[in-house]
Formats: sequence, structure tokens, C-alpha cells
Amino acid sequence: MTEILILGAGIAGIRAAKVLAKQNLDATITVVNQNDYHYETTSLAGVAAGTAKVEQIMLPLPASLPKGVQFIKATVTKINREAHTVELEDHADLHFDYLIVALGIKSEDYGIKGAKEFGMPIVSVDTAVALKDHIEKTMANYNTSKDPNDLHVVVCGAWWSAFEFLGELAEHLPVLAKKYNLPLDQMKIDCIEAKDKILPMYSDKLTGYIKATLKKKGANLHLGMSIDEVKADRVISGDKVFMANTIVLTTGLSGSQVISDSGFENRRNRMVVQSDVSIKEDKNIFMVGDVATVMQPGKSWPFANTGQLAMEMGTAAAKNIAADLTGNQRLDFEFKDLGSVLGLGKRTGAAAVFGNIELRGYPASVMKVLIYDRSLLEEGTVSTVMKHGRFNFLRI
Ligand SMILES: Cc1cc2nc3c(=O)[nH]c(=O)nc-3n(C[C@H](O)[C@H](O)[C@H](O)COP(=O)(O)OP(=O)(O)OC[C@H]3O[C@@H](n4cnc5c(N)ncnc54)[C@H](O)[C@@H]3O)c2cc1C
Repeated sequence: MTEILILGAGIAGIRAAKVLAKQNLDATITVVNQNDYHYETTSLAGVAAGTAKVEQIMLPLPASLPKGVQFIKATVTKINREAHTVELEDHADLHFDYLIVALGIKSEDYGIKGAKEFGMPIVSVDTAVALKDHIEKTMANYNTSKDPNDLHVVVCGAWWSAFEFLGELAEHLPVLAKKYNLPLDQMKIDCIEAKDKILPMYSDKLTGYIKATLKKKGANLHLGMSIDEVKADRVISGDKVFMANTIVLTTGLSGSQVISDSGFENRRNRMVVQSDVSIKEDKNIFMVGDVATVMQPGKSWPFANTGQLAMEMGTAAAKNIAADLTGNQRLDFEFKDLGSVLGLGKRTGAAAVFGNIELRGYPASVMKVLIYDRSLLEEGTVSTVMKHGRFNFLRI
């Protein structure tokens, strides 16, 4: 029987498993994931800020996988391309005929001194919960320390997750102030970014709205300031020093370390895929989601790695494996980018969707909630949506 192995049960891996399971192939389908749960990466910022409950964004495994798909809870350490085997921590090696690699991301510090040591990333359930706990503990500590830095948060890097985190945290500060009897007017959030321009896929008008919204909420953006060093209680940029006892690292993301450790040719642990989303070294190995780079047709830059791209790639890899096994032709992957929606807190956001439609404020936040609920439906069932879904737009 053909052995199909899927590494990672994130957005791309789950989608691939679902599509494959529907094909009734003469094959075993096995998903390997380091945790016995799937999580909605797109909601990690809310967990890190303290506005979303972690249980809400976690779906149990293997319960969320389709019938007939096997599950192994283990950490992947290496892929042996020529032997067609995968090495796991505390588990025997696995053989595959077809492999879908969907191992997601790790935090990237771009070599900034002290960033890895003192900056807290938002890349998984564990890191998001660690950050939430750190913020709460540090802020509560102000009552005994009277150290103003206990009330300051500095975010390094202004990319997607940073904006979502800033919007959520700004909304959560009054809650913390009330809970621990803290001076709200002394609580401060700064975000430092080397580039002058934020979110290049958005128009100046939309980024202007994002900046103004965050400013109004009390999050200060400092653009055009590259970070020289991060220390336990400060971020240094030229002659400017931002003091804080919570430092968040959102400078960037790269693909899973397993890609480099397996000796694959890559850039920041991401591999450029062929038109059928396999890799050029082996047509039976597919890279999908955040470990892949998909070039935009006719352009010299790739599509941004998003949940939508991950889902579509998972589908494409699964369908192309099914095509091989049923004697059909593989199809080229064509990505129709529907746009993106940025949450800036519970009831506001910014979006550029369906080509040239821009949404701001409440309509964008409703769209974000609807996308989240739809994604849950894709990864689970109607009851998953009822249990883990968000309906906060109904309460406005
Ligand atoms: C904080 C944050 C906010 C985001 N917000 C948005 C958004 O609003 N909209 C949007 O479209 N995109 C957003 N993205 C990007 C989007 O979430 C990703 O592009 C998408 O999750 C990629 O899917 P994936 O399946 O490739 O990886 P993931 O969803 O990250 O899944 C990877 C899976 O592999 C598992 N894994 C990792 N390493 C190992 C290992 N060694 N062994 C076994 N298992 C392993 C992980 O536990 C995880 O289950 C955001 C990303 C982050 C980090």
C-alpha cells in the first residue's frame, strides 16, 4: 500500500489530510504533529495579549482529523530525502512514498544582538501563553516594585502579528489596570520598526488608518528605527533607548528548522516549490504553507505566507498525490489571492479583499471573525464552530 505522510497538523497539514481522505485511495495516510492539538495560528496574538482564551483556539487531535487518517504525536527532527524516511524524537523512523511537509514557522531575529535571549516571540500556543503570563505577572509586580518599566511593553518589528498583538493588548490594558489596581495612564506600548513603510500590500490610505487606530488606542509606532540591541529591560536603536520589562519579538518569521537540518536548499528555511508544489529534487515531496515560497506569476517576489495560501497549497499537494495514484495528470497550482484582513482588536480592523475593496473598522473585524469561523469549519465540523467559534460581532 502507498504510504502518504503529512508532517504538521496546522492549517496546511489538516487541509491536505482532509482532501486526501476523501479520495478513497489505496494508501495509508499518517499525520505527524508535535502536539495532540491543532491551533489557529491566526488567533495567537489574542492569546498572547490576554484577550482570547487559549482553549478556544485549540482543536484536539486526532479527533479533528478525518476517519481513516492515522495520527502520531511526535516531533520531526529530520527528513532523509534519498531514503524516503523521516526521523522523529522518541519514535522509530517512518517511511514514506509521498511526503507533505507542513511544519510551519519559527521566529526570526535577523541576528539582532540579544533579541533571541530577551525577546518573546508569538509563534505557537506555548510562546503565546508564556507572553500573556509574563505580561500579567510583570504588570502585577508594579504594585510592589514601583518600577515604571513593569508597565511598559516594547514590540520589536512591525509585521502582521505585531499589529494584531498591539491592537489586542491596547484593549486589554484597562482590564489589567482594573484587576491589579494599576495606573492606566502609566501603561505604555511602543513598537519599533526599521522600515519607514508598513504592510506594503496595503494602500497608504489603509496603512494611515491602521497607524491612526493604533495611536488612538495608545500603541506608539516608531518607524524607520532599526534595532541595534535588545537587553532584558531595554531596546536600543541608535541613540534612543526604550525601557520595558516586557519585550516582544515580531521581527520576522522563517520556515521550520527541520528544512535546514535535512539539508534542503532553502532561503530562511523555505523552499521554492515547482508548479505542482513538489520540490525540484523529488517530485514525491511537497512543501506547503509556511515552509514554502510561491513566486507570484510575472513578478520577482513571492506571495505572502498566509492561512489562505497554506490551505490552498495543502489542497493542491493532496490532489496531485491523488492524481498520481489514480493515473491522472498533476495540476499546476494557481493561487487566487482573496486578500487579507488584519484584526486591530475585538471590534476594529483593516482589510483589502477581492482585488480592490478596502474595509476599515467594524466591517473588517466582522470579516475577520467570519474567516476565523469558516476556517474552523474547514478544519473541523459545525460543532467545532459552535464550540470554538467567535460570535462577538453579534454582540455589538
Ligand atoms: C501570530 C500570527 C498571526 C497570523 N495571522 C494571520 C492572519 O490573520 N491571517 C492569515 O492569513 N495568516 C496569518 N498568519 C500566517 C498563517 O497563520 C500561516 O501562514 C499559516 O498558519 C501557515 O500554515 P502551516 O500549516 O504552514 O503552518 P502552521 O499553521 O504553523 O502549522 C504547523 C504545524 O506543524 C507543527 N510542527 C511544527 N514543527 C514541528 C515538528 N518539528 N514536528 C512535528 N510537528 C511540528 C506545529 O505544531 C503546527 O501544528 C499569522 C501567523 C502568526 C504566527
